[in-house]
Amino acid sequence: MRPVTERDLRASFVNCSKGETKRLNLPKDFAEGPWEDLDFLGWRDPGAPDRAYLVAEHDDRLVGIALRVTSNGSRGFTSRSMCSLCLTTHTGGGVALMSARRTGEAGRQGNSVGQYLCVDLACSLYVRGKKQAPGDGVITESLTLEEKVVRTRANLSAFVDKVIG
Ligand SMILES: [Zn+2]
Repeated sequence: MRPVTERDLRASFVNCSKGETKRLNLPKDFAEGPWEDLDFLGWRDPGAPDRAYLVAEHDDRLVGIALRVTSNGSRGFTSRSMCSLCLTTHTGGGVALMSARRTGEAGRQGNSVGQYLCVDLACSLYVRGKKQAPGDGVITESLTLEEKVVRTRANLSAFVDKVIG
């Protein structure tokens, strides 16, 4: 994705209030990237363990989504779970169910979209092999890196559409 500034990031959020947007903690050193390896910028709020954020380019604009971490997937060390964006499998709580309040009327009525995501939201790095899941749960696939990136972006785009749609 293209490098973004703090201002861009804070202005991108579609599903939380202006006050929340102002208060949320940005990732440390985010300005340093690695942008070329990112399909989206995702992070956990260092000051609020149940909050996570995801900012992606969507239809040529930047869309930021605030997420609530609703379960930490603590289903025992040996159980495996899979991220629904990057399809990396993790053991021992490396995937969590996160929910995003939908925008507009649906959100006001309390509707949200739930998604199983890598707890550190580093999907882009797992896909590119820049970060390894503990226990290395990557399923051997015959896809090229490019195909995996395309798939991750398609999953991401479908998720963003569900939140803003
Ligand atoms: Zn992931």
